[in-house]
Amino acid sequence: MKTLYLFNTLTRNKEEFIPIEAGKAGMYCCGPTVYNFAHIGNLRAYFFEDILKRVLLFNGFEVNHIMNITDVGHLVSDDDEGEDKMEKGSAREGKTVWEIAEFYAEAFKKDIALLNVLPPSVYCKATDFIKEQIEMVECLDKKGYTYKTNDGIYYDTSKFPEYGRMALLDVEGLEEGRRIAFSDEKKSKTDFALWKFSPKDQKRQMEWESPYGTGFPGWHIECSAMSIKFLGKHFDIHCGGVDHIPIHHTNEIAQAEACTGEKFVNYWLHGEFLIEEKGKMSKSAGEFLRLQTLIDKGYSPLDYRYFLLMTHYRKKIRFSFDNLDAARNGFNNLKSKIKEVKSDLKELYDVSESDNVFRYREKFYEGINDDLNVSEGLALTWEVLKDESLSAEEKIFLVNDFNKILGLDLDKIEADNIPEEIIVLANKRKEAKANKDFKLSDDIRQQIKALGYELLDKKGGEFDIKKI
Ligand SMILES: [Zn+2]
Repeated sequence: MKTLYLFNTLTRNKEEFIPIEAGKAGMYCCGPTVYNFAHIGNLRAYFFEDILKRVLLFNGFEVNHIMNITDVGHLVSDDDEGEDKMEKGSAREGKTVWEIAEFYAEAFKKDIALLNVLPPSVYCKATDFIKEQIEMVECLDKKGYTYKTNDGIYYDTSKFPEYGRMALLDVEGLEEGRRIAFSDEKKSKTDFALWKFSPKDQKRQMEWESPYGTGFPGWHIECSAMSIKFLGKHFDIHCGGVDHIPIHHTNEIAQAEACTGEKFVNYWLHGEFLIEEKGKMSKSAGEFLRLQTLIDKGYSPLDYRYFLLMTHYRKKIRFSFDNLDAARNGFNNLKSKIKEVKSDLKELYDVSESDNVFRYREKFYEGINDDLNVSEGLALTWEVLKDESLSAEEKIFLVNDFNKILGLDLDKIEADNIPEEIIVLANKRKEAKANKDFKLSDDIRQQIKALGYELLDKKGGEFDIKKI
C-alpha cells in the first residue's frame, strides 16, 4: 500500500494517513440541511469528499462512508437563534416540514448523482435517531456538562478545557465581543443548545418527548450521536466545509469527547468555498445558483465537475461563467482527444504490466496521495494522451484507470462509429491516390465531406476518418 498524506485541520499539517483498523477507513461527512435546493457552492464540499473517498478506494481501503441528512434543529443563525430552517421552508411552500425534507433530500441525491459523486454507504436522517441524540444529552447531563435555561438544555463549554482547540478559537476574545443585545440565559457566547424546548403556546410540526420536556435536538448533537452510532466512539475521518470549523465541528468534538472520554476523530478535513465577486455564495444571500441553473444554461453537470477538478480543495474557487466556459472547452478537447486515440485502438491487449503504465501510475499516485492533488492528476491525463511513446492501448488503459478518481465518465467515451459506406469510399480514394488519379481522389473526398465526414491523411497513404 502506498503512503497517503492528508492535511489535518487538527494539527494544521499534512500527515500520513494511518487507519485505526488496517485496510479500512471510516469517514463521516456532514450532509445537507434539506430545506431548499443545494447551491453549487454547497455541492463543492460533496465533490471534495467524493475525491477523498475515491482516493481511499484507489489506495485499496475499504471505505465506510456515512452522511447525515439534517431534517430538524438547524436554526437560521448558528447561535441557536432565529427561525428553524425547516419550518421556514415549510411556510414558504405551504407544505409540511416532513414533505419539505423528503423533497429536498431527493433533490440533493439527484444532484450529487449527476455530478458522479459516489453515494455514501449510509444516509442517516437526524429525525430517525432522536433516541440516540437524547441519550447523548443524558450522558453529558450526568457528567455535569449541561445547564438548563428557559428555552433548552445547553452545553457548558467552560467545563471542557479543550473547547475550540481545533478552530484555534479565542474564547475569551469572543466573550469580550459578546453583543449587548445578547441577553438570554446562556452563560457564555460559545455555549450551545443540546435540546430546545417547544414553545409553551404552540405545537411544533417536529417535536419529541424527552426527560427534559417536549422539544427537539440542537443541530450539533445529531452528528456526534450518529457518527458514533455508525462508526464507533473513535474513528478515522470527519469532513465538511471550512465554515464548519469554528462552531459545528468544534461543538461536535466537545460533545463526543466529553461524553465518551476518548479522542473522537483522528483526521479532520475541510474543503474551501466557491466564491463570486460578491463574496461567499450562500443560500441565505437570496438568489442562488443550483446545478439545474447550469444545466438550463446548456452546461453538463460533468462540465462543472471538470471545473472543480482544476483547483485543489483547500483553495478558494472563483466562480464565473467565463471560468466555467474555459473548463467546458478543456473538457471537450479532452473528450475529442480520447475519441481520436480510441479510433487508433487495434486489439485490446493487457498492458497493465507495461513499464509505461507503471511509470505513469506511480506519478498519478504521487499527486493524489499528496493531499488529494487531483488537478495534477488531470494534467497528467493530458500528458498521457499526448505522449507519443505510448501505444493507444496503454493510453486508454491509463485514462480509464485515472477516471476512477476523476469521475468524468472518460471510460464511456466511444470512438466515432464510421459507417461502412464511408470506409468503402475512403479505401477507393486511397486506391485512386495510389494510381495518381488525383481528380477521382478529390471527388471522393468531397463526396465523403458531403456525407458529414472528413479524411485526415497520414504517412504512407493511410488515413483517419473524423465525423464533422
Ligand atoms: Zn455535522
